[in-house]
Amino acid sequence: MDNKVLNNLSYGVYVVTTVDGQRPVGCVANCAMQITYDTMCVSINHDNYTNSCIKKSKKFAVSILGEHVNDNIIPVFGFQSSKDIDKFENIKTINVDGLEVIEDSVGYIICELVNQFETETHTVFEGKMTEAKLLKDDVPMTYSYYHQVKKGKSPKAAPTYQEETPAADKVAYRCKICGYIYEGDITKEPDTYVCPICKKDKSFFEKIV
Ligand code: FE
Repeated sequence: MDNKVLNNLSYGVYVVTTVDGQRPVGCVANCAMQITYDTMCVSINHDNYTNSCIKKSKKFAVSILGEHVNDNIIPVFGFQSSKDIDKFENIKTINVDGLEVIEDSVGYIICELVNQFETETHTVFEGKMTEAKLLKDDVPMTYSYYHQVKKGKSPKAAPTYQEETPAADKVAYRCKICGYIYEGDITKEPDTYVCPICKKDKSFFEKIV
């Protein structure tokens, strides 16, 4: 199967948020779509903490990211786990019906969970949309824009994840968090070097043989 064909499907880039008790949690998702007049679906990997929290809270919010979104939002929400850090610590959000939505987004949609089904790797959540609001005049980011213009990557849990391989004759390192490939000898970089995608330091890179 030529997986490159799949890059031609249209995806957006979203932050899906919910709550773990009273604490907000969330992650980046690229599969979100309106399916009827007042319902939409999002697909969240079983390994994402947000998945189990939506099952308990029975509600979620979808913040639509624009092309000019703050550069911190995708690294924080896409490549780290709400289990380990408070993703909301340095990100401006607005509380709507008990859910935090990203202030620097094109807009948000609030959903009540009405249905769900399991695939081998992901849960597809169907939500009834109860509220929606535009926040910013920006072009919604497509996954293709994120990939081609922002040089973004997919975390391993994303449906769009594709493993990259460096040229066989070159020394290269792969970021264990986001999959970014550094071609050359990363040990010659200063200690302040961070992954351009997920902002992790050099210690997160492993040499590819
Ligand atoms: Fe990285």
